[in-house]
Amino acid sequence: MRILDLVVTPVAFRDPPLLNASGVHEPLVLRCVLQLVVEGGVVGLGECPGERAHVERLVAAGERIRGMSVFATGAIERAVDEALGGPGGPLRKIDRVAAFSAIEVACLDAQGRLTGLPVSDLLGGAVRDAVPYSAYLFYKWAEHPALDGGAAVGDEWGAALDPAGVVDQARRMIDRYGFRSIKLKGGVFPPDQEIAAIRALREAFPDHPLRIDPNCAWTVETSRYVADELKGVLEYLEDPTAGVEGMAAVSATATMPLATNMCVVSFEEVRPAVERDAVQVVLSDHHYWGGLRRTRELAAVCETLGLGMSMHSNSHLGISLAAMTHVAAATPNLTYACDTHYPWNAADDVVAGGPLRFVDGAVPVPRGPGLGVELDHAVLDRLHGAYIASGRERRDDTGYMRRIEPGYDPALPRW
Ligand SMILES: [Mg+2]
Repeated sequence: MRILDLVVTPVAFRDPPLLNASGVHEPLVLRCVLQLVVEGGVVGLGECPGERAHVERLVAAGERIRGMSVFATGAIERAVDEALGGPGGPLRKIDRVAAFSAIEVACLDAQGRLTGLPVSDLLGGAVRDAVPYSAYLFYKWAEHPALDGGAAVGDEWGAALDPAGVVDQARRMIDRYGFRSIKLKGGVFPPDQEIAAIRALREAFPDHPLRIDPNCAWTVETSRYVADELKGVLEYLEDPTAGVEGMAAVSATATMPLATNMCVVSFEEVRPAVERDAVQVVLSDHHYWGGLRRTRELAAVCETLGLGMSMHSNSHLGISLAAMTHVAAATPNLTYACDTHYPWNAADDVVAGGPLRFVDGAVPVPRGPGLGVELDHAVLDRLHGAYIASGRERRDDTGYMRRIEPGYDPALPRW
């Protein structure tokens, strides 16, 4: 079955003012929806980040793969790499891999639709019926401030700027979705305030595994201090400090595992990190590691090297959530609850029939052919219109923060 076309549709959807070590989420997330049109009228879906440069790479790659078999993902991977200049070209490998990652998911969705099989079956078969996700908590403002003469934009979650606000957010998210693990995005306030928030969560949720991820906002010394203060409290500590050497120095004294989606983001980076015992848990992300099958290969590497495996998330819609769920279901050693931003963004989902459901904090693995989700074309059109109207080309948490706090300094480590 040959590929006839790759339709690349950038979209923008609403996002609350979620704070992190780089600034604050902008009012709109840029994302991209792929429709891979195959002979016989089958359309495979994919979703990925929507920066303008990435969208342009996908368009270029799509032209190159026309006429290829949708089952030939090895040849498609090579063709995408060549279309983007290959190893000698101007693009980083991680950017070329990211383009293939999105296309591979659309190929697997099409393959599933053609064969009547769910994507998890194409990945070796689901070993769990539902995939647990973590409650992904953020410090946040009550609303996006009024800028450019517009009105402030609030949301149903309100502010979370202290331990009580974080616990309240956790309680509401867990009441609604049933999550059984909790992650706090840190690196926003001085470490003692974030330690207090984790302790408040522990008191309110004595049985929920807890994680904090300050995105390298801390020095080695501060990271060691936080690790010591939270001894026996954290399931893992995610990217407290930058780089393999820094993480190795923290790891040498920390009692909990260190996790990363920052110092190990490609296969080449696994070995040096393991040699220095810098990390014990790798957060996979099929959008960056080369797709769903490469994520299974990462799982084999992790199993071989004795590394734990979890899953990273960026702001996303239901196509990505379905893909994350299929690959996690088919990966036996992905035993940590996966991260997801979906509760923050589900109201604008492009998936027909409304947002995917969580049951007791887990997404049941879709059993229909392919990813098991369909596109709502009216919503897709609306979100594409929002992308065009936004005039934006990339994510810029720091630039947005500086419009509100002109003196904001994003330099890290901050503490
Ligand atoms: Mg992270």
